Formats: sequence, structure tokens, C-alpha cells
Amino acid sequence: MSHIRGLEDGTSEIRGVVLSSSANEKIVDGLRRGIGALFAGDREEHFVATPVISRRTSERAGYPTTFPQLLGAVHGSQDGDEPTATDLVLTSAACHHLYPLLAGKVLGAPTCLSVEATCYRGEKTYETGRLRSFRMYEVVRFGQAGAVEQWRDRALRSADQWLSGLGLSTRVVQASDPFFGRTGDFLARTQREQQLKWEITAELTEDLSQAIASANYHKEYFGEAFEITNTDGSETHSACLAFGLDRITLALRHAHGVDTSDWPLAVRANLAL
Ligand code: ATP
Ligand code: ZN
Repeated sequence: MSHIRGLEDGTSEIRGVVLSSSANEKIVDGLRRGIGALFAGDREEHFVATPVISRRTSERAGYPTTFPQLLGAVHGSQDGDEPTATDLVLTSAACHHLYPLLAGKVLGAPTCLSVEATCYRGEKTYETGRLRSFRMYEVVRFGQAGAVEQWRDRALRSADQWLSGLGLSTRVVQASDPFFGRTGDFLARTQREQQLKWEITAELTEDLSQAIASANYHKEYFGEAFEITNTDGSETHSACLAFGLDRITLALRHAHGVDTSDWPLAVRANLAL
């Protein structure tokens, strides 16, 4: 297809929406295997989720109130009438698919699950790596407070080592979410003060670094929202480590070049390219 200019990177005319070529998908597959290997020891099950989720679940997770500016919804017509809102919204974060699975359950032991989903966010800017539709692979750990926080720290460290091992110049930085409105300012401040969110950043272009993975300690937030408890009756705590598969791929291409056959042998071997 080299005679058609501009097809190599899948950039389309729709801002924040890209196509992924088969060369790109090979990298993404390598990343999936790498993440799977990192968490092989503690992960019990992996899921592939749909790009839509029930509105009720999104509401229970608090997304429409904390990030109304990013949420997308599915509209449909019942019988040819004007389309109206359905009971589905677009998936905003992969981990939202896991909480309903555990809702109302008592967790007999620490639980670790992972899930990949195509997520939608109504981003307002479209710099490199800021997509409206992108793949997120999340590993989520449930259990007692201290153990979950320790897991988050350990998971962040091993993810950073793995990503550095792929030749990326990463940085681990404290972060906060773009919560909405005045209450949002308070939530973001709490998040920073309690060091709940960390990001692993890497360069996607010469003058732009983005978060390629983020680790969040939710405390009892989802345990409470979905009534998930530990055997002693306490609300379960949770933390997630989210990998942005499309952003990691962009960072790798920036670091090693567009053509994967030119990449360092060790990186190619690591990703089975
Ligand atoms: P950012 O600060 O860049 O907006 P975020 O903190 O909102 O990202 P999270 O909600 O923690 O991101 O999402 C987890 C991961 O998903 C991020 O670390 C990133 O790699 C990826 N991600 C988030 N938003 C986007 C996007 N708009 N396009 C591509 N990847 C994204
Ligand atoms: Zn999450």
C-alpha cells in the first residue's frame, strides 16, 4: 500500500479516532502478552469487554457525575422515531466492567482480575496520543486496605521496569484526574494529597510526554458503591493499573522508529515481533 500516502500510521480524518494496521496490532499483541506475563502470578482471570456498558453501572461507578464532560452515550430509535438515550453508555474505563461481577459478594481472599476494553472519552483536544476511542488494559486488585496499596506500589514498579526494558525513557509521576466542577477540584486535591494516582509517562513526540499507564488506589470507593466486602465484613479496597495500549505503541514507535524491523533485537524479541 506504499503507493497510498499517509496510510502507514492509520491517521484518519476524524479527530481522535485512528485505525490500527496489522503491524500496529502485532505490537499491541506483544504488549498484551507482556502485561499477562507481569501479572501471571496473581491474576485469576482475564476478560475482554465490549465498548458499551450499562448506564446503571457507569452511574454506580460515579462516572457521569465526576466526568460528565468525557462520557459518551448510546442513542437509538425504538420504532423509527427520533433517537433517544438507551440503557447503554460507552465504556469510559475498562475496570468498570469488573465491579458488577463482584457486586454483593464477599471476597474470601485477595482477588486480582484483568480486563481490556475499547474506551470512549469526549476529549476536547487532539494532540498525539489523545484519542476519543482507545484500548485500555487494566489489572485490578481487591482486598484489605494495606495489601491493596502495597500491590499498587509493586505493580507500578514492575510495570515501569517492563516499559523501561522496552527501551522507553519513562518517568513515574504523581497525578490527579480531570474531575468536573467545584467538587471536582476538591476530589483532585484529595487525590494528590493522599497520593492515590500515579502515572508512568513517556515521550510520544519530541516535545510531548503522555501517561502511558496509570495506577489508582480507590480505597473503599468501589467496594462501597458495589457492596463488595472482605470476610471480616469490611468494605473491600481496590486499586487498578491501567495500560494505554495505543499510547504505549505510539511511544515505542517514537523511540524506535515506524518500521518494527529496525527496532532493537531485544525489544523485538520481548514483544515477539
Ligand atoms: P490523561 O491524564 O492523559 O488524560 P488519564 O489520567 O485520564 O489520562 P486514566 O483515566 O488513568 O488516564 O486512563 C488510563 C490510561 O489510559 C492512561 O494512562 C493512558 O495511557 C490511557 N488513556 C487515557 N486517556 C486516553 C486517551 N484520550 N487516548 C489514549 N489513551 C488514553
Ligand atoms: Zn480503573
